Amino acid sequence: MTSCGGTGHLSTRVRENCNSEEPNRSLAEFADPAPLQPDYFGALQGLADCTPTAEQRKGMLMTKLDHVIEELVTGNRILAREGVVDSFGHISVRHPDNPQRYLLSRSRAPDCIEASDIMEFTLDGMPVDGGGRPPYLERFIHGALYEARPDVMSVVHNHSESVIPFGVTDRAIKPIFHMGASIGHEVPVWDSHDHFGDTALLVENMEMGRDLAKLIGAGATALMRGHGATVAAKSIRQAVYVSIYLEVNARLQKQAMDMGEVKFLTRGEIDKVAERTGPYGINRAWENWCRRAGRPFQAEL
Ligand code: MN
Repeated sequence: MTSCGGTGHLSTRVRENCNSEEPNRSLAEFADPAPLQPDYFGALQGLADCTPTAEQRKGMLMTKLDHVIEELVTGNRILAREGVVDSFGHISVRHPDNPQRYLLSRSRAPDCIEASDIMEFTLDGMPVDGGGRPPYLERFIHGALYEARPDVMSVVHNHSESVIPFGVTDRAIKPIFHMGASIGHEVPVWDSHDHFGDTALLVENMEMGRDLAKLIGAGATALMRGHGATVAAKSIRQAVYVSIYLEVNARLQKQAMDMGEVKFLTRGEIDKVAERTGPYGINRAWENWCRRAGRPFQAEL
């Protein structure tokens, strides 16, 4: 159904009217619609000869990129609303038209991010037409994962509070409930001190980014000792989903450990939940998180 462009666009536009940033419209306004504006007639006349202008062609080509950028803005706002990121932390997406590039905001708190903040980077972290905007220092985490993992389309880096204790103790974080199964069988802990000694703990170059990506391997996530966590996924929605449930799992696991011995999910249970975790569940969560974050729920491309 989502492959039908017309339906998708209509659905997106209708839902955009629910965006909390738009003023509420009165019933009277719907009952007595405003007359069409002159530029609307102009647009119709332009379409009459069926030959798109250069400007229209540019707009048509940008549709996919614009859609992905809007999705990335939504991902930032949801992570902020759900408490996975605060003033720090970030989410990126691989460029939809060029797998050697990725999209990531300029250095800004995720809850403040707009589409105009999104920048394009080469995999080694160089801004493409950055316009002098300051990038995140830790952008190398993202490029290193896209470089190592062709299957990865989105990356989240965060300092999610409940996961920090599991990165600095010998207690491993493991799926404790079925929503937590998305974090995978094992969550390794990357310790920057192992290979880089005393640092500010930040991933500030490609060498450190590649070292982290190597530890994550084919997995979904790794904790970072004294720092936070990184999640790699096949879509923005999945990266956000895993990041949120990594935080929830950590919080619940700590509560359970305080109460006594914990019975974790078995390997077989984790596999069975993973088999069932697809668009059906992820999109249901995404729609709810969009509403909570005051963002439109876009149709998937
Ligand atoms: Mn960080």
